[in-house]
Amino acid sequence: MRTRLHNLRIVPDGPEVGGPDTIPADLLIEGERIVAVAPPDQRPAEADELRLDMEGQLVLPGAIDGHVHFDDPGFTHRENFETGTRAAAAGGVTCVVDMPCTSLPPVTSGANLREKLAVIAPKARVDYMLWGGVSANAMEEPDWVAHLEEVVSEGVAAIKLYMLSGMETFRDLDAQGLEQALRETRRLGIPVGVHAEDRNLVLEITRRLIEEGRNEPLDYAASRPAAGEVSAVSTLRTLCRRTGARIHVVHVGAGEALDVIAEARGEGLPMSGETCPQYLEFTEEDLQSQGALLKTAPVVKTEEDRERLWQGVANGDIQHVATDHAAGEWPAEKRTGSIWTDYGGVPGVELLLPYLYSEGYRRGRISLARMVEVVCAAPASFFGIGGRKGRIAPGFDADLAVIDETDGWTVRAGDLHNLNRYTPLEGRRLAGRVTATFVRGVRVYHRDAAGEEFLEPAGFGRRIRREPA
Ligand SMILES: [Zn+2]
Repeated sequence: MRTRLHNLRIVPDGPEVGGPDTIPADLLIEGERIVAVAPPDQRPAEADELRLDMEGQLVLPGAIDGHVHFDDPGFTHRENFETGTRAAAAGGVTCVVDMPCTSLPPVTSGANLREKLAVIAPKARVDYMLWGGVSANAMEEPDWVAHLEEVVSEGVAAIKLYMLSGMETFRDLDAQGLEQALRETRRLGIPVGVHAEDRNLVLEITRRLIEEGRNEPLDYAASRPAAGEVSAVSTLRTLCRRTGARIHVVHVGAGEALDVIAEARGEGLPMSGETCPQYLEFTEEDLQSQGALLKTAPVVKTEEDRERLWQGVANGDIQHVATDHAAGEWPAEKRTGSIWTDYGGVPGVELLLPYLYSEGYRRGRISLARMVEVVCAAPASFFGIGGRKGRIAPGFDADLAVIDETDGWTVRAGDLHNLNRYTPLEGRRLAGRVTATFVRGVRVYHRDAAGEEFLEPAGFGRRIRREPA
């Protein structure tokens, strides 16, 4: 049977040419796929066609959050796949890409990957991909390269590496390990995402500040200076030249680190960068007032950094915006009495699209076309699913986020859907509101004046594999 989504607006697909932000359209869906995108009622109706009036709302490709920590299995007091994907569905995110380091076992071998999949598959409400990883722990195994080959052949989205990790179960790589891992990923033709902060610099400052008895949010900020990001990204640029590995720097927070990535791209090196709403929105002043609630790694920085990051999202220096969704147990793990032991991370998957739409597009910082590029098309292409997700076009999965542009709402942590509900955006008024989310042609989430509803059971979400180039 065919479904016609009628009376909606879409962002014109293709390069930005200074035309209108949105155009009216009909979307025709058969099964899981979009079969046609056409001017309203240009295509004749079929006899058994189901017609849904979208009442002039904006319909975007479903967002892909390329950086989430859903902690399942192993750390499910923080998040789990059911609550994490529930929040995703409510926020117009139709595919999440879960990190390999915050589950037990970590995704560092084929057996570990299958163990994780068996646990999360019955819980997923939207589609999902898994990152694989190489940690210092994994490299202690003599057959770590074979394990890496396994996770790549199992279709992981990309490979995560840490230059500085706080996790005992997924330790960071030293310089030699990092280069070895980059060479192997290059050989296997899979991109890497790197947490890029200078380990020695950060640990040295941290040790000194703790010795001095300092324990304020701004002391934590001082322990992770912009120079730590710049130094690590510069090292990656050198390693990129030397190994040819496809290197994606996750959660860029420092404007100068972004400058280094932009220079590297200017040289033709295969590097790219991701930033997150927290770095676009907040500064050290907010960290001072919000305390550990806004503690993340890297840490939020200055007004100049924020401006440079927004500029990067607008001009293409930043390729992806993702959330680094990482929720600590609230309040126990976020209010330990010491900024050094408080959990570092904020949940955000549900606010990714609402935030970018309201604070990016509606405030005139980025175009809708750029927004779709950084949360849909570019991540899809990076994760090897650019032929089926990330665009509204014939043949693509009918993954859709519907936004009522005339509505608005106030963010309240208690109204969110992930497990531990706290947000540095508490009380923020956002323009626009997600009213429906479709995954592969099926409406999984719906909101109207009467309330909200999750229309499909957990387990509806499907695991998506990276497609060979
Ligand atoms: Zn992360």
